[in-house]
Amino acid sequence: MDLSGKVCLVTGGSRGIGRSISIKLARLGARVALNYKSNEEQAQRVVSEIESFNGEAAAFRADVADYQQASQMVDEVVQKFGRIDILVNNAGVTRDGLLLRMDERDWDEVINTNLKGMFNTTKSAVKFMVKQRWGRIINISSVVGIYGNAGQANYAAAKAGVIGFTKSLAKELGSRGITVNAVAPGFIRTDMTSELLKKAGENLVVEKIPLKRIGEPEDVANLVAFLVSEEANYITGQIIAIDGGLTL
Ligand code: NAP
Repeated sequence: MDLSGKVCLVTGGSRGIGRSISIKLARLGARVALNYKSNEEQAQRVVSEIESFNGEAAAFRADVADYQQASQMVDEVVQKFGRIDILVNNAGVTRDGLLLRMDERDWDEVINTNLKGMFNTTKSAVKFMVKQRWGRIINISSVVGIYGNAGQANYAAAKAGVIGFTKSLAKELGSRGITVNAVAPGFIRTDMTSELLKKAGENLVVEKIPLKRIGEPEDVANLVAFLVSEEANYITGQIIAIDGGLTL
């Protein structure tokens, strides 16, 4: 797979799955704009890591939940790199709790980051892809968006929304040379799951996974790399679970 000449924006590219995706796409030759919300040092560390193998990357601070910030970020990426070919909507947060105890702020924060954030960046980026008549959009959903999960009504609603958004956009944009797919990870080892794995007991979780291990961010990055490549030309509107068989 060769992504030379392609410019990609990875939201939430400073840590976890987004970090691995940024590094993988850069290794395949893409110039990478990686977005973060608060931790600049972490984002710069990923930029340095990419530069260490002569890749090209830059970090862009923006809260994807804020339309103005997201839109300005996309414009800045195009100003810096001249185009945008690939958008990976990865930024996400959890604010878990049973509905009876979930307050409105927890609901809004999760929906605004995980779902509205996707609208904000995609709406801003698609106009450039349409002009180029080529684009790749990858939205990170979750198996929770397909199957639901007690204690995550806000997160499940947002991630299910991502699936509807992905399928609709695939229909809207197919004739413009733009594919839109979603990836639905199961348990992946990142900051987001570290507490949960500790509380639930990693061994008990692994027991339920046919492949008998927690996923690594690189597993997801490998799938995303394929989906944004020319080799995946005829795949659009798909929701691909990457969960070691957990949801079989
Ligand atoms: P993570 O380690 O917690 O990293 C989250 C990333 O998102 C960070 O780079 C963070 O930047 C950024 N971010 C958070 N809110 C943001 C906002 N409002 N604007 C811009 N950036 C923001 O998470 P992860 O586990 O890698 O998850 C990545 C994606 O995969 C998420 O969409 C998550 O829902 C999904 N997912 C994860 C798993 C899993 O098992 N880990 C499973 C299914 C789906 P700062 O550090 O600067 O805030």
